Amino acid sequence: MNRLHAIAVATAMALGVAAVPGAAGCAGLGEESWIIPEEDEVALGQRFNQELLAQMPEFKGDPAVIQYVAQMGAAIAAVSDRPPNGVLQYRFTVVDSDEINAFAIPGGYVYVTKGLLKTARSGAEVASIVAHEIGHIAARHGVKQLETMMLAQGLGSLIGDEQIAELVSGAIQVGTGLTFSKDQEREADRLGVAYANAAGWNPWGMVDFFSFLLTLEPKEKGNDPLTGLGELFATHPDTAERVGSVQAQLGAMGIAREAAGLRWEAGTTLDQVKAAL
Ligand SMILES: [Zn+2]
Repeated sequence: MNRLHAIAVATAMALGVAAVPGAAGCAGLGEESWIIPEEDEVALGQRFNQELLAQMPEFKGDPAVIQYVAQMGAAIAAVSDRPPNGVLQYRFTVVDSDEINAFAIPGGYVYVTKGLLKTARSGAEVASIVAHEIGHIAARHGVKQLETMMLAQGLGSLIGDEQIAELVSGAIQVGTGLTFSKDQEREADRLGVAYANAAGWNPWGMVDFFSFLLTLEPKEKGNDPLTGLGELFATHPDTAERVGSVQAQLGAMGIAREAAGLRWEAGTTLDQVKAAL
């Protein structure tokens, strides 16, 4: 963050003014105040990503697997409220873990586990989860949590590289910035349904995948360290409630399970990906 911007933030805060101009707003998400500008979010994300990759194994096997997730993710991000631009780019990583999980961090980084790809019954299920994660990034959920932490620590007036480093390592240690609130999860579900649909994937895949998770809870939560980072098994909102909310949204959008023109892609490509895992 440059000094002028920092002063503007400090002034706005002192005056109790919420509006801080951001680099760009999310068209479908309304005007928001951005304390951490996009450039800083991307720098934060890069640092977060490095820390995470030092702690968890990245899938380095068949490039077709990585390409499958990256192409699917790029197509969904392109139709989101926050498509990639000159500053923000999306990165998709397959984590070499059999745990069924997915998560997102600020700056456009999305992670899905090998376990998720293995257990999904259709491409639409994978796409719905990837779209949910993109929803978190589009709505800046992780960044907002960091902004709240900054304000709580009195860092709103000026934030330097060292303070960013402290925030990131603190956030990773306690898992904040990766664990979202109930309302943020609901919003990511809502955005995920819209984005998957816009990208041509059948968003009923989200219903199917959450319903599938319900059959696993809680016995297969496991003790993998990823459980702390991932969010699919977060206890709230309740998974059954999420299934109901998503079904209601699909009803309101008039999207039938058998809707023509929306892909399920059960078998074929996903089966090839599974065989390569
Ligand atoms: Zn989420």
